[in-house]
Amino acid sequence: GRGVAMVTAVAARLAAHRRLLEETLAPFRLNHDQLAAVQAQMRKAMVKGLRGEASSLRMLPTFVRATPDGSERGDFLALDLGGTNFRVLLVRVTTGVQITSQIYSIPESVAQGSGKQLFDHIVDCIMDFQQKQGLSGQSLPLGFTFSFPCRQLGLDQGILLNWTKGFNASDCEGQDVVNLLREAITRRQAVELNVVAIVNDTVGTMMSCGYEDPRCEIGLIVGTGTNACYMEELRNVAGVPGDSGRMCINMEWGAFGDDGSLAMLSTCFDASVDQASINPGKQRFEKMISGMYLGEIVRHILLHLTSLGVLFRGQQTQRLQTRDIFKTKFLSEIERCLRPTLPPPLQGAFLSTVGDCWPWVVARSALEDEVGEAMTHLFALSSSLAPSDSLALRQVRAILEDLGLPLTSDDALMVLEVCQAVSQRAAQLCGAGVAAVVEKIRENRGLEKLAVSVGVDGTLYKLHPQ
Ligand code: BGC
Ligand code: MG
Repeated sequence: GRGVAMVTAVAARLAAHRRLLEETLAPFRLNHDQLAAVQAQMRKAMVKGLRGEASSLRMLPTFVRATPDGSERGDFLALDLGGTNFRVLLVRVTTGVQITSQIYSIPESVAQGSGKQLFDHIVDCIMDFQQKQGLSGQSLPLGFTFSFPCRQLGLDQGILLNWTKGFNASDCEGQDVVNLLREAITRRQAVELNVVAIVNDTVGTMMSCGYEDPRCEIGLIVGTGTNACYMEELRNVAGVPGDSGRMCINMEWGAFGDDGSLAMLSTCFDASVDQASINPGKQRFEKMISGMYLGEIVRHILLHLTSLGVLFRGQQTQRLQTRDIFKTKFLSEIERCLRPTLPPPLQGAFLSTVGDCWPWVVARSALEDEVGEAMTHLFALSSSLAPSDSLALRQVRAILEDLGLPLTSDDALMVLEVCQAVSQRAAQLCGAGVAAVVEKIRENRGLEKLAVSVGVDGTLYKLHPQ
């Protein structure tokens, strides 16, 4: 009663500000036609990339020719580099998968220092892990999940094309990353380390989900960065000999739009985020979707709304002008304050022609530590949320006050709406991309309907309430 009355009163008082807010957020609210256009452009870029023609999608062959069949066995070491955390893992595959892992930090000075420093650090971490797990002296095969674009010539060869996200170590681009790791192993005299494969994180996600679910033929990451891979027909892949069978293709979809094809959708806030990044003009799709950037987009919108006098009584604070102050996890926290009103789930984990169910995608989650209990998740790409009550606003306010942004309930409501608009656009763009991939697979196989699972991982995917 009282809460609703309060929100109503607030809404009335804000009529003028609300119009400015709506104007600011309008470019983030994509309609069906715009999303269908993204899907169509993605599809075109996929085909060009596969043919080796100029395209913002590199469509990199991975030399993974099949998804697991569940009969795989053995003990392995694994590295996971390029996401929120750097991890070393011991993976025991028997009838299930048992994982022991440890997170190690990579100081920014190392991530952006010399390649030699970076790879020496990695080997030091592996050796520390081996010692702690009582594995020293054992020669286990090591798989390297390396979440950056690589031109692969085989399973254990990957030439780094360029760094993305927060990495920028020198003397690595153009080099075989497996070699760089092996050289560091030699420098550290860790001879028993035996690197057998390098995979993109999307591929690792597809494979670990596929271990449980044979229908999993797409891997999707929505984390610090974003990307997808899927099983393509070899006959469609230029540059890899052979015409029969399939190969997993790492799309590197984060770079989608780097040829200007997303210009229609890009807002001035996207441009600011791009310009302030360490790779301007690059990874434009990623910068609209992934965890490394959403908080920055929100921050730029808040700065703009403040300059219009709509927020924070028009008072710019030093705090809000600080880069990366608004972490993407705050978006998740803020949006979690709301009660979602989700439509009922679709029947079964099944994707068909995009028509009716789009932009809903039923995805299976292959959370690396929970492979045994992969859960079916609804990918809520177009949920409609309504601020439920004053409690939600008080929670939002508390979160923002912790951030050093003193604000009123009016402000809190608006910040919430900004977060929602930015998150929803990210999810919808991602959904449009997945729709393009699903349709490609369906047509490849001449099917009217395709049943496929999408293995999904990434911090943003795991933390965001929607
Ligand atoms: C990288 C991809 C990676 C994705 C998700 C992107 O920045 O280019 O290789 O799969 O992030 O980690
Ligand atoms: Mg990861």
